[in-house]
Amino acid sequence: MIEDKNQQRTDLGQLGEFGLIEHLTKHFDIKQSSTIKGIGDDAAVLDFKDKQVVVTTDLLVEGVHFDLAYMPLKHLGYKAVIVNLSDVYAMNAEATQITVSIALSNRFPLEAVEELYSGIEAAAKLYNVDVIGGDTTSSTKGLLISVTAMGVVNEEDVVYRNGAKPNDLLVVTGDLGGAYMGLQVLEREKEVFKVNPENQPDLDPYTYIIERQLKPEARKDIVKLLKDLDVKPTAMIDISDGLSSEIIHICKQSKVGCDLYENKIPLDPQFISTCEEFDIDGTTVALSGGEDYELLFTISQEDYPKIKANPNLTVIGYMTEESAGMHLVTRAETKIPLKAQGWNALNNDSE
Ligand code: ADP
Ligand code: MG
Repeated sequence: MIEDKNQQRTDLGQLGEFGLIEHLTKHFDIKQSSTIKGIGDDAAVLDFKDKQVVVTTDLLVEGVHFDLAYMPLKHLGYKAVIVNLSDVYAMNAEATQITVSIALSNRFPLEAVEELYSGIEAAAKLYNVDVIGGDTTSSTKGLLISVTAMGVVNEEDVVYRNGAKPNDLLVVTGDLGGAYMGLQVLEREKEVFKVNPENQPDLDPYTYIIERQLKPEARKDIVKLLKDLDVKPTAMIDISDGLSSEIIHICKQSKVGCDLYENKIPLDPQFISTCEEFDIDGTTVALSGGEDYELLFTISQEDYPKIKANPNLTVIGYMTEESAGMHLVTRAETKIPLKAQGWNALNNDSE
């Protein structure tokens, strides 16, 4: 439904590999003082002085992680950067550089790759990271994109997954589940489009959740906010797989338990109404949906006064002794064990 049939198509073969790299990368300028050499030599050169460096990478594969039927290439480029920056911020670090590697089949013309790169460029600009290199190759089928992100952090500021203590508060940013329900809406419209290509879907009631799916943001603002509030989380992780699996990661690595309160989980009104329309339980989606790219962290109770008035932050539970286990306290005030359900459980539930 997003494909434009009248687009110009320049065959990639016309440019050759080096021509393509030159064409794609000529706009990238250097903003970070830690970038000594960016694109153009055998390797980039970075100088982080006395800071610690964090490095993270993600690989996105067409047909597995994205579907170009409803994912515009510009958004894909943007999202490929965002998912990596989110991991950098989850270490309480500042993102500084990325590399971008792509594999393309011959069904992609130059104009398509330009679209992809316009999204990469937009994200790099907004988050103030330098694109310092990458690799370009062909694939027999489909598109692959891999981004590696680097960031810096003072040694004393790094936040790992393993520092949570019993009685710490469990805090989440933003709201949850939107990206998953946005995907459900897009999948539904794709099916409708297959049957009736003339049909113009009315997506107005879903703009927020579709944006959560197609154009997620990484919580750079939260790293700054925590610094400004003088709060150092005891543990932190980004929410890429769903709240329950991320909580379990923190609990297992920190050797603590937790009580998560169902009625505290922040949900957007548009998310709630869409769950009702699809007859899906909102809590289940928030727990297992994934791709929200919010931050989940624990703080000492002493820090509660510093965060309590902030609309970006919601306390959703607290940590307990490991022996107490990991639980969801439901609205009916029953305690049920927290499980890393993931997509499978969700798909079964909604059948
Ligand atoms: P090499 O043969 O050493 O791998 P390349 O010709 O692949 O070098 O790359 C030349 C320069 O362009 C390098 O700095 C590399 O990091 C950069 N580069 C290659 N492909 C990309 C890409 N898709 N995006 C950004 N930079 C790229
Ligand atoms: Mg190369």
